[in-house]
Amino acid sequence: MKTLREVTLAEKILREIHMCDKCLGRQFPKFRPELSNSEKGVLLKFFAMTRIKGKKREGYTWKDLLDIMEEQKCDLCGNIFSKTDDIVIKLIDVLEGYEFENFLCGVKIPINLIEKEEKVKSKFKLRGENLRKEIVREVGLKLNEHLRKETNFSDPDIKIIFEPFNDELEIKIITSPIFYSGRYFVKEETVEVKKTIKEFFITYFKAEDAKVIIMGVEGALHLEMPFLIKVIHPKKRRQIDDRIDLNKIVLSEIKRLSREEFKIIRTDKLEKKDI
Ligand SMILES: [Zn+2]
Repeated sequence: MKTLREVTLAEKILREIHMCDKCLGRQFPKFRPELSNSEKGVLLKFFAMTRIKGKKREGYTWKDLLDIMEEQKCDLCGNIFSKTDDIVIKLIDVLEGYEFENFLCGVKIPINLIEKEEKVKSKFKLRGENLRKEIVREVGLKLNEHLRKETNFSDPDIKIIFEPFNDELEIKIITSPIFYSGRYFVKEETVEVKKTIKEFFITYFKAEDAKVIIMGVEGALHLEMPFLIKVIHPKKRRQIDDRIDLNKIVLSEIKRLSREEFKIIRTDKLEKKDI
């Protein structure tokens, strides 16, 4: 019987390694797939304990059995899952200053924990997901719920990378660049077109940097010419008017571009030697 085989295996594992419910359940993807990893873990521990008790197996005391059921110390994750609510609260706090529609979570795990799980997996021939995936999924789902924002795997507005195993939770936020095209019109001479456009976009989007490509001769008066801009590490992703008067320069036809559109236009312009 499949369940019996799995319970026997769980029992063997638990004799050697302390595991929290989630870490144990995670090793058994095919066992009662309708259950969450935590529920699987609880059930497997319960079955394993019942079996051990039934067999009056030598070497097991009541304390050993209680240890198995206990969530006190997990050799695989150090009980990180009891801290995910705190992690989420801290992440939400850091994300306060950012505007985004969707995100992607990533986690950094110490190499010794990765190796430990690999060893256990190969020793007991286990095929479940790894710890990293489970942490990311759990934290990601909690963030989805709290922020009411979706996870985006291919092109997220923002990447949240956290290191939960450090003494202090380390959080790194990487935002995707945003791209615009538009036209500029120089009203007054001796103005640095690139610098003016760049500074405006950096301030407006609270960005770290920006790269501007302008067509035409910089500073040429009374000529309306196109420009492209890549805004790097923006904290804000707000709407922008399609016309902005910067006193000496007027920007118009400002339009948000996708990364692909930006690449196509940039390549096109470069090939035509317009810049
Ligand atoms: Zn664990």
